[in-house]
Amino acid sequence: MKKDILSMDLNELTSEIVALGQPKFKAKQIYRWLHKSFVTDFSQMTDISLELRQNLNDNFVIFGCSIEKKLISEYDSTIKYLFRLDDGEYIESVLMKYKYGYTVCVSSQVGCRMGCSFCASTLSGVVRNLHPSEILSQIYAISRDNCIRVSHIVMMGMGEPFDNYDNVVKFLNLVSDENGVNISMRHISLSTCGIVTGIYKLMEENFQLTLSISLHAPNNELRSSMMPVNKKWNIEELIFACKKYTEKTSRRISFEYALVKGVNDTDECAVELSRILKGMLCHINLIPVNEVSETGCKKSTPERVKRFSDILSKKGFTVTVRRELGSDINAACGQLRRSTQKEK
Ligand code: SAH
Repeated sequence: MKKDILSMDLNELTSEIVALGQPKFKAKQIYRWLHKSFVTDFSQMTDISLELRQNLNDNFVIFGCSIEKKLISEYDSTIKYLFRLDDGEYIESVLMKYKYGYTVCVSSQVGCRMGCSFCASTLSGVVRNLHPSEILSQIYAISRDNCIRVSHIVMMGMGEPFDNYDNVVKFLNLVSDENGVNISMRHISLSTCGIVTGIYKLMEENFQLTLSISLHAPNNELRSSMMPVNKKWNIEELIFACKKYTEKTSRRISFEYALVKGVNDTDECAVELSRILKGMLCHINLIPVNEVSETGCKKSTPERVKRFSDILSKKGFTVTVRRELGSDINAACGQLRRSTQKEK
């Protein structure tokens, strides 16, 4: 079987190239073609001898993703991509343009098995994990397609990053490598639904990224009804792990809270939320829930969102309400893949 060359770090690639009887520096050249020029085929490595290119082609494969569909928002030029992987599976990624640069939202799995009640990605379960190369190639394909340098990454697409821990960590190391695309860890956010063991593992990696926690509810009864993961690790265990994470890394944690009309958007919920997060170095990000027809969840009204946000601000929290980008193009994760599956 051909080896996944785009998932190899420079050391691993060097061993492989030396094993083919080639000098070490060739590995660096090839690595640059892959991770700085984003080539998709060995034939594009024009300063590598034809013989070596053939040899590479016999032994390795460059996993990639091809654009199956592309939707451009008329409001804010957010672009949603449906990518086709080499085995025919589909994943979604989003390009968002902000004043400070280009952010790509990447997927970490095909589907998701976490079962959150409001989310479209999880409706048909998980199909498989993505390789490090397949997470990278979302960024590379988008860079090529738009002729841009991506500056920020959010791991908030399809899938639960901590359910694919090793590949995600490998991806993070590759994407921040200065010999490659070199996106700073400080410009990367990773979002988890609350897999507590993943939080403990991540704090040992010494990454300077931002950890986002999808909290969405301030008590166990409500959270368990929205997010099955809460039955395994409850809010107390989750918050305790977050405190340890901040102690260890000195990084501020971001809590995501999707506001669902009549479910978790009451004044009482806001007060309860302020109680459980009291004294933490954190940021609260409120998101009017994206309505997915199968889930029946409705968005909170703008007045409700404002009121919820005001209660938290008054208690001294840093709160933002997420700008809804690309609402006309199904930019919430999972919806595009789902509608395409239905068409087929
Ligand atoms: N599995 C990870 C990352 C993927 S989801 C996690 O759960 O954090 C990225 C974010 O989008 C999470 O905060 C998730 O809860 C949220 N989300 C999922 N469906 C949503 C919807 N319909 N509306 C608003 N946010 C949603």
